[in-house]
Amino acid sequence: MVGVSTSQGEFHAPVVVNAAGPWGAELAAMAHVGIPVEPRRGFVMVTEPVPPTVFHKVYAAEYVGDVGSGDAAMQSSPVVESTASGTILIGSTRERVGFDPRMSVEALRLMAGSALALFPSLAGVSVIRSYWGFRPYCSDHLPIIGPDPRAPGLWHACGHEGAGIGLAPGTGKLLSQLLTGAPPGIDPAPFRPERFEDAA
Ligand SMILES: Cc1cc2nc3c(=O)[nH]c(=O)nc-3n(C[C@H](O)[C@H](O)[C@H](O)COP(=O)(O)OP(=O)(O)OC[C@H]3O[C@@H](n4cnc5c(N)ncnc54)[C@H](O)[C@@H]3O)c2cc1C
Repeated sequence: MVGVSTSQGEFHAPVVVNAAGPWGAELAAMAHVGIPVEPRRGFVMVTEPVPPTVFHKVYAAEYVGDVGSGDAAMQSSPVVESTASGTILIGSTRERVGFDPRMSVEALRLMAGSALALFPSLAGVSVIRSYWGFRPYCSDHLPIIGPDPRAPGLWHACGHEGAGIGLAPGTGKLLSQLLTGAPPGIDPAPFRPERFEDAA
């Protein structure tokens, strides 16, 4: 029988989709299967509102390398963008330190310094807050989407790392096509949950 047991009772369904983001491995383990999803922590700083200064999202070239890195140690590369309210968002860092919820002064120092190198006019602008989150990192940097042959009834849609908001519509579409037996719009093979065992 396929279903979930929750604090609100038991629910049964033909399929359960693991969409637990950085907790995806934890949820998969409840069904006794392994997927290599881990939290990859990232910080963001928010400035006070300023007159129009940053008109496009701007990032340094090393950002691309940092995204593709599998290093557990902290990587930092500047990403600067403004919001409609005039605040400026400054990123970015990446590190695999588990679900460590502590603020990192080092991360803030690195982000502020590299953002100033891109936009010297931000000197003197106050940072009003900072926050962090955990990207659902997968060791090959691809999400895990589709049925898990090791646990019939369990499907996955997790491991989207730092692009899960942008990739959400495509993931939803692919998942719905696979679930209904419609021809998939893209090849689902690269996202197969069991691919890590194939590679072992
Ligand atoms: C600093 C930072 C900047 C980012 N910038 C971008 C960006 O610019 N563009 C972009 O596309 N993406 C960005 N991302 C990545 C994006 O936030 C993630 O890829 C996305 O949120 C993943 O979505 P998800 O639905 O898979 O997981 P989540 O949004 O993490 O949702 C998982 C849900 O599962 C729930 N859950 C966990 N365990 C259980 C359980 N046992 N039972 C029930 N529920 C459970 C959690 O409570 C949570 O609600 C950024 C992430 C960070 C940290």
